[in-house]
Amino acid sequence: MAHHGYNPRRRVLITGGAGFLGSHLTEKLLNNGQEVICADSLFTGTKDNFESFRDHPHFEFIRHDVTVPLQIEVDEIYNLACPASPIHYQHNPIHTVKTSVLGAINMLQLAKHLQCKILQASTSEVYGSPTVHPQPEEYWGNVNPIGPRSCYDEGKRCAETLFFDFHRQENIDIKLVRIFNTYGPRMHPDDGRVVSNFIVQALKGDPITIYGEGQQTRSFCYVDDLIDGFIRYMNLDSKETGPINLGNPGEFTIRELAEKILELTNSGSELVFKPLPKDDPQQRRPDITKAEAVLGWQPTIQLEDGLRKTIQDFETRLAQ
Ligand code: NAD
Ligand code: UDP
Repeated sequence: MAHHGYNPRRRVLITGGAGFLGSHLTEKLLNNGQEVICADSLFTGTKDNFESFRDHPHFEFIRHDVTVPLQIEVDEIYNLACPASPIHYQHNPIHTVKTSVLGAINMLQLAKHLQCKILQASTSEVYGSPTVHPQPEEYWGNVNPIGPRSCYDEGKRCAETLFFDFHRQENIDIKLVRIFNTYGPRMHPDDGRVVSNFIVQALKGDPITIYGEGQQTRSFCYVDDLIDGFIRYMNLDSKETGPINLGNPGEFTIRELAEKILELTNSGSELVFKPLPKDDPQQRRPDITKAEAVLGWQPTIQLEDGLRKTIQDFETRLAQ
């Protein structure tokens, strides 16, 4: 536990705090009475995401790139810094690898110095294009080490290795979560992920771009459910290292998602079919048995309800 005077409030560092997930986590922790310091390079994140808590007295922002060491006194760390959408992480793949690998080393060294807990936002991409379905944590994955997605997938896999090596070698209290596709308000309108693309296209009346035949599947978790899982895990009174899958086991084809969004937006957009990107996983669904057993967690928000809230947020932002 770090020492900082008589303040009983826990100080939390969130790297990537200006991003989609990071800003929701920040808001929730501030509402729970914690102090939050967001460190973010603003590569894909934006200060607009701070709108609802910018002036909160227990909120601070530091513009910082996690590839550079950071010295700060906190009680717990959530390491979320990393571009998450394929267009963004492929924009400068070398920097993506550095963000995952050097970022993990720098944050783990900080956790070692402070003797504090650290949660790592890993990803279902560590399973690659899975040959086991649904994916349990024991599955080692099927990942191409040299393809266009590798900077992200292998970067995150190496970060997992570092977390476990710091745990074994330095006795760091690590909490590793593997996040499956998550969506919700504040997603970047042009970050290229499927939920944001389809909603923006439907609201503008533009064609809905389905890659491939749209028969590939994904499981979509609403952001509030995911953040609840993060916080339960951080607050868990045990040294459970994970990895723990967090995601919604409801599985849909991309075509089904497109049709649902057209229906909920009352849009007349047409469906157009584009080439499937290289190494695009055919199917993905989390096995969340472990999250249920260890965290007492399971998602509560159905896809349709989550999509409604997300559509409403995009409607408001697109009208501005
Ligand atoms: P996001 O792009 O909205 O947020 C990432 C944040 O990290 C941004 O604010 C960005 O500016 C910041 N960042 C990037 N590189 C940085 C660097 N070198 N130094 C400091 N800050 C940096 O994405 P997100 O969806 O909020 O994802 C957050 C984390 O969760 C990422 O680590 C991502 O890999 C992981 N994740 C997300 C999903 C999902 O579906 N949203 C799924 C699996 C894993
Ligand atoms: N996708 C699509 N149209 C789009 C964007 C994505 O059909 O405009 C597909 C993409 O090929 C993939 C799925 O939707 O099969 C999820 O893509 P996303 O980039 O959101 O996440 P990831 O592939 O990382 O799971």
